[in-house]
Amino acid sequence: MNGRDIPPVLTGVFGDPIAHSLSPAMQTAAFRRRRLHYVYLKFRVPAPDLQAALRGAALLGFRGVNLTIPLKEAALRLVDVLTPVARNTGAVNTVTFGGPGRIEGHSTDGAGFLRAFHEAWKTGVRGEKVLLLGAGGAARSVAFALASAGVRAISLCDLDGKRLARLLRDLRDRAKFRARGAQCPLPRIDDRMLDGVTLVVNATPLGMDGRSVPLMPGLLAPAMRVVDLVYNPAVTPLIRMARRRGLRCINGEGMLVHQGALSFERWTGRRAPVAAMRHALAAALRRRRRGK
Ligand code: NAP
Repeated sequence: MNGRDIPPVLTGVFGDPIAHSLSPAMQTAAFRRRRLHYVYLKFRVPAPDLQAALRGAALLGFRGVNLTIPLKEAALRLVDVLTPVARNTGAVNTVTFGGPGRIEGHSTDGAGFLRAFHEAWKTGVRGEKVLLLGAGGAARSVAFALASAGVRAISLCDLDGKRLARLLRDLRDRAKFRARGAQCPLPRIDDRMLDGVTLVVNATPLGMDGRSVPLMPGLLAPAMRVVDLVYNPAVTPLIRMARRRGLRCINGEGMLVHQGALSFERWTGRRAPVAAMRHALAAALRRRRRGK
């Protein structure tokens, strides 16, 4: 048997819809750069089929899969082992198949956020006072990551009071972190939520339309850093606003690359070639923006 006959290690992404996923471009570039004989494929998996798809992938010898909308929460009940991070976050974005009874669910979003922050500013988040806009899936990942990385304070804003209360309670019970929260219709927000804030994170979809801002312009102060988790458009309305005021800011591309890099590292045990992944993601995003 020559090298070409050896079947590749199987990885991929499950979701519904799935055509839009940028992960195959990033992961394929990473495997190539590290000369790993792996493939990464997309599979449309509706939520009711997730259990069968996971068992099937395990049976076929997959090394791992990413999960995207609408499967991240459903997977919590379906994997054999949940990492503490996935349990806290309430979502699974990375599954690793480790043999019978060893389908492990993990979430790399929060750690991806921290790595992107560090990469941009060569410092960690310790001591920051954070205004986190949103209390949905992305906000949960970021909130637990921030709490575990030693931020001084977190203020949360979301329209959905129940979701907000759940995140505040989970942070208190699971991370022993007391955040404060306000139910508010962004971009309007009680001024007091901004007291001493050094880092603003947008974890709402506001800005994906290229027009909406999650915060009124006058509320940004020069000492703040801004992270917008939205990555398409590249220059979101919040980023434009922050740049005009001379603030340090990044969009969500870094987090997207690093959450993928962390999945790659779990599956391969190798350091991820982050630059190659970023390059592939940027090219895929350019194609998407051109409508290809
Ligand atoms: P999600 O679960 O829908 O959460 C968004 C939250 O924002 C919801 O609770 C929503 O409340 C709230 N919200 C929306 N508009 C609001 C407003 N005007 N005022 C107050 N609250 C408002 O979404 P998600 O999955 O967390 O994603 C959020 C964003 O992060 C998306 O843009 C996504 O693309 C981005 N993201 C980026 C990465 C990355 O790697 N860069 C990863 C994950 C997500 P309602 O439901 O009541 O509207």
